[in-house]
Amino acid sequence: MASSTKSFSIGDMQCIAISDGTFCYPANWFFSNVPQEQLEGSLRDHDLPSDQVATPYTCLLVKTGKHKVLVDTGAAGMAPTTGDLLKQLRAEGIAPEEITTVVLTHGHPDHIGGVLDANQKPAFPNASYVMSRTEWDFWAGDPNLNSSGLNDHLKELLVNCAHANLPPLKECVELLDGEKEIVSGVYAIPAPGHTPGHLALLLLSSNEQLLHMSDSVLHPMNLEYPAWRNVFDLSEDTAATTRRRLLDRAAADDAAVLAYHFPFPGLGRVRNNGTAWRWEPENPS
Ligand SMILES: [Zn+2]
Repeated sequence: MASSTKSFSIGDMQCIAISDGTFCYPANWFFSNVPQEQLEGSLRDHDLPSDQVATPYTCLLVKTGKHKVLVDTGAAGMAPTTGDLLKQLRAEGIAPEEITTVVLTHGHPDHIGGVLDANQKPAFPNASYVMSRTEWDFWAGDPNLNSSGLNDHLKELLVNCAHANLPPLKECVELLDGEKEIVSGVYAIPAPGHTPGHLALLLLSSNEQLLHMSDSVLHPMNLEYPAWRNVFDLSEDTAATTRRRLLDRAAADDAAVLAYHFPFPGLGRVRNNGTAWRWEPENPS
């Protein structure tokens, strides 16, 4: 069986990439503005299935010494193949009560699926939950998802999930404006487009860095074809601008990168290939 956790370090920070599970999407949801024939050809050229994309949901635990920061909470309740986060944390010897900070990169169901327990109370009872104020306000109202490529059923699913999962966090949420250091060495970077308040993260410790790109890229093919959008991106243009900005930064800095939906553990480097970029996954060890 494939491993579901991967430990690594960034400077003095101990990190664990944790798979919450996987789910298969139709390929044309992931690459929705690409002519079908071209898409199938490109996927086949990369020895990938041409009809569907199997994607993991990779949460990240960061131990800074003082804090235990969890980035995103997985897709509990979405499918029988998801919702493994708590089990995997416990297998690593970490109880939910120990988590001090939960960063929610954005309000989609595959990132906020595990914020509550069975009693609709915060699943990490001693943590402050951190989210962009723009994102919180967007989902708190009557969000207009018409500029996405989502059908009505999916729009409803996203809104219902946000309306069920976010209000119970009201007492423990900390809302961010702009770029901000969340805890020592962990920085939130506004990365809008996928959603209005979508966040990327930067981890900095002892001259090492990790750029957590969250959903600014959904698939390694997004590096080769940064203009390919997915149905979930709310603003196609802003998402593409953000994607290029973060890929440029990752390549220029030779930063370690984590991408939430890339093949587990989603760790690697971004290389400039002259016209765009390519993904160099970390060697499995
Ligand atoms: Zn996602």
